[in-house]
Amino acid sequence: MSAEVVDTEAESVDVLVVGGGPVGIALALDLVRRGRRVRVLEAREDAPVGSRAIGIHPPGLAVLDRLGVATALVAAGRPVRVGRARGVRGALGAVRFDAPGSAWPFVLTVPQAITEATLREALATADPVALVAGVRAEGLHQAGEAVVVDGVAGDGARRRWRAAAVVGADGRDGAVRRALGVGRQGGPYPDRYAMADLADDPDRFAPDEAWVVLHADGVVEGFPLPGGVRRWVVRWRLGADGLRERTPEELAALVAAEAGRRLGAPLDAELRGSASAFGVERWSADRYAVGRVALVGDAAHVVSPIGGQGMNLGWLDAAAVADALDAGLDQGDPGPLLARAAGRRRRAARRAIARAAAHTALGRPVGPIGGALRDALLAAALRPPLAARTRGRFVMEGLS
Ligand SMILES: Cc1cc2nc3c(=O)[nH]c(=O)nc-3n(C[C@H](O)[C@H](O)[C@H](O)COP(=O)(O)OP(=O)(O)OC[C@H]3O[C@@H](n4cnc5c(N)ncnc54)[C@H](O)[C@@H]3O)c2cc1C
Repeated sequence: MSAEVVDTEAESVDVLVVGGGPVGIALALDLVRRGRRVRVLEAREDAPVGSRAIGIHPPGLAVLDRLGVATALVAAGRPVRVGRARGVRGALGAVRFDAPGSAWPFVLTVPQAITEATLREALATADPVALVAGVRAEGLHQAGEAVVVDGVAGDGARRRWRAAAVVGADGRDGAVRRALGVGRQGGPYPDRYAMADLADDPDRFAPDEAWVVLHADGVVEGFPLPGGVRRWVVRWRLGADGLRERTPEELAALVAAEAGRRLGAPLDAELRGSASAFGVERWSADRYAVGRVALVGDAAHVVSPIGGQGMNLGWLDAAAVADALDAGLDQGDPGPLLARAAGRRRRAARRAIARAAAHTALGRPVGPIGGALRDALLAAALRPPLAARTRGRFVMEGLS
C-alpha cells in the first residue's frame, strides 16, 4: 500500500468493485439499482474489443433481465435453438434449447465486446460516476469495519477508497485474491484450439443451429453469431504454439480448412471478426470470501471455455453476492452473509468445472473403436429419456 496517500482524502463508498469486466460491471449495476454507493476500478482506459465469450445461457439471461439489459442484448444477438452433433459415423442427433416452458428458450450468442458495452452503458445511465476507468487497484487491507483500497492511474496519480465491502472481479490473475493470500487449485489442460469468426453459409447451416463434429482426431464446433457470421472452433492437433505467430487471416484460412475437411466440404475463409489460438485451463480459489471481501467471476474460478459458461457462472456469482451485500450492509456486517454465499458459489463452480471438463474430454482424439463407442453414448444422451438431462447440462441448470 502507498504511503503517499493521505487517508482523510479517501472516498467512502458502500462497495468497491475491483475489475470492470462483464462480471464486475453487472455486480455494480445490480448494487447501484438497489441504491448503493458503488465504485468500480477498471485498469483499462477504453472499452474492450475482440471477442472471447459469445454464449449467454438462460440463467445468465435471467440475471441480465433483472438488471434491465436482457432485451437490448437479445435484440443485438442471435438465438440458438438447436445444437446438432455428428460423430465418426455420421449424424448423432440434436439437443433442443427451446423446451416448452423455458423462460428463455434459446442460448443467445453475442460477441463479448457488445455484451460489455451494453452493461457499461446501463451502468453509466444508472450512475455516471460509478466506473472509474484507467485506475489499477494495487493495495488492499481490512481495517475494522472498512476495507481500504489504493488505486494508481496511468499517469502515476494515487487515490484511495474506503469501502464497507470490496469485491474482486479482476479476472484470472486477480490482485484482490493475491492480496488476501488466497491460493487456488487446478491448472492447464493439454488441449489447444484455434478459432475464427467466418462468413456463414445459410444454405448449409441453419441460422439458429450450432454444430459439433466429433471426429477421430478431435472436434470442430460452429456457433452462429449475429450479422451472418459463424464462429468456428477447432481442436488443434499440432499444439497452439505453431499458431501463435499467425496473422488473423492466416488463422482464418487454417480454421476454414480444418472445419471444412471435417464437415466434408470447403468453408469460406472470409474473416468477419476475431481469430485466435488458445489453450484452456481450470482452477478454483481456495476461498471465495474473506471477511468483507468477496471474489466473483474469473477471479474466483476459471472453467474450460469448451461449453462456454465462465462469464455466465460469474453473473450467477454476482447475483448471489449482490443479495448478500445488500442484506449484510443493512445488518452492519456483510461478512457472515458473504461467507454463506461464497460457500454456495464454490460448490456451483465445482459442478461447472466438472461439466466443462467432460465437454473438453469429449473432443479429444479417439481411435476407431473409441469413436464408435463415443458415438453410441452420445446418440443415447440425445434421445429420451436422457435428452432432458443433456439439455440441462448445456443450459446451465443447477448452477444458480
Ligand atoms: C476463447 C474463450 C471463449 C469463451 N467463451 C465463453 C462463452 O461463450 N460463454 C461464457 O460464459 N464464457 C466464455 N468464456 C469465459 C469468459 O470470457 C470469462 O469467464 C469472462 O470474461 C470473465 O469475466 P470477468 O469479468 O470475471 O473477468 P475479465 O473479463 O477477465 O475482466 C476482469 C477485468 O478486471 C480488470 N482488472 C484486472 N486487474 C485489475 C486491477 N488490479 N485493478 C483494476 N482492474 C483490473 C481487467 O482489465 C478486466 O477488465 C470464454 C473464454 C475464452 C478464453
